[in-house]
Amino acid sequence: MASGSFSELDAALPELERRYLDLHRHPELGFAEHRTADIGARALRAAGCEVTTGVGRTGVVGVLRNGDGPTVLLRADMDALPVREQTGLDYASTQVVTDESGEQVPVAHACGHDMHVTWLLGAAEVLGGRRENWAGTILFVLQPAEERGSGARTMIEDGLFDRFGTPDVVLGQHIGPMPAGHVFTRPGLTMSASDTVHVRMFGRGGHGSRPETTVDPVVMAAATVLRLQTIVSREVAATDSAVVTVGALNAGSKANVIPDEAELQLSIRSFTEPVRQRVLDAVRRVVRAEANAAGAARDPEVTVVESYAPTVNDEAATESLSTRFREVFGEQRVHPGPIVTGSEDFGEFSVASGAPSVFWFVGGTDEQRFVTASEAGTVDQDIPSNHSPQFAPDLHPTLSAGVKTLVIAALHHLGG
Ligand code: ZN
Ligand code: ZN
Repeated sequence: MASGSFSELDAALPELERRYLDLHRHPELGFAEHRTADIGARALRAAGCEVTTGVGRTGVVGVLRNGDGPTVLLRADMDALPVREQTGLDYASTQVVTDESGEQVPVAHACGHDMHVTWLLGAAEVLGGRRENWAGTILFVLQPAEERGSGARTMIEDGLFDRFGTPDVVLGQHIGPMPAGHVFTRPGLTMSASDTVHVRMFGRGGHGSRPETTVDPVVMAAATVLRLQTIVSREVAATDSAVVTVGALNAGSKANVIPDEAELQLSIRSFTEPVRQRVLDAVRRVVRAEANAAGAARDPEVTVVESYAPTVNDEAATESLSTRFREVFGEQRVHPGPIVTGSEDFGEFSVASGAPSVFWFVGGTDEQRFVTASEAGTVDQDIPSNHSPQFAPDLHPTLSAGVKTLVIAALHHLGG
């Protein structure tokens, strides 16, 4: 594809729009994306892919083979959020579902994953129709449960790379509250790592008047909280950074009863994989050592309940793709991206496969509206961001822009 022309996309646009509106009206929570997966599987088959469903529970993989060449993985996440949509759009979600804990919750595509699915399926159609332009293999990955931080890993543990091939490059994109049709790329670190850790420390309860007959988990937990604060100050280099927050500490229910156990909930943020591992190892070590110091008879339980690897873009691949984006979209529509403090499990595909990855953002906010808010200094108040009940991407040119970025990125690695 020398020119970056997308004449076939104009014809496909009404169908893309119809598909997006349908997905938007029918959001599904993580690992419950049955309808979305079914729509995705059928569209990938129609584009010429060999399709496998049920990969990592509700994940879908479409393999498009076209002779010898590199393997490119394109990823879109499918899940929605337990949010009551308040956009006022005529296609707003009114869905209420039963979540895994049995509670009734409203559901909405407040993070724009419906757009991601639409983009990926649009790209599959374009690439399937342009086989004379490229050679190699494309893995189209529809991932479940990104918002739970476990969908990528579930697919990997279900043999994603063994069954469908190890990619040479991993590519993905996210919609954001930036001007529609604009693209934001950042070499290196682009999103932080996040780990949520639950800790249970076991003592031996008894009467508050006779502590010598007990192992007091309240004192054990209190000492642990203070000692955990030395991880960042004493074990992380001044030139690195991390956060260890104990956001919940629960033990006991009465002044004169020493309880049996204490529970801590930690939120950990880090920006590189080595620092992340060092902090997690230190948390385990400190918790175990404090339990030992208190004479606990039973080892504490440390469980990572949610985790997102840092999203780190390969420097060379990102620079080279950004140059290509600028050639197609123009200098004024391709910008350096910020480090996003949110987290994504996209990075897992790169970490597990060893392949370089590039993850970029595509704006979804009406450009004039963004400029007006920007000039007034009110972007944060006036432009609803991802996860807001008011998050409502503009359809055009957002729909076509994200298809183009994926197609351009795939062809960039497949000789097009
Ligand atoms: Zn999200
Ligand atoms: Zn998201």
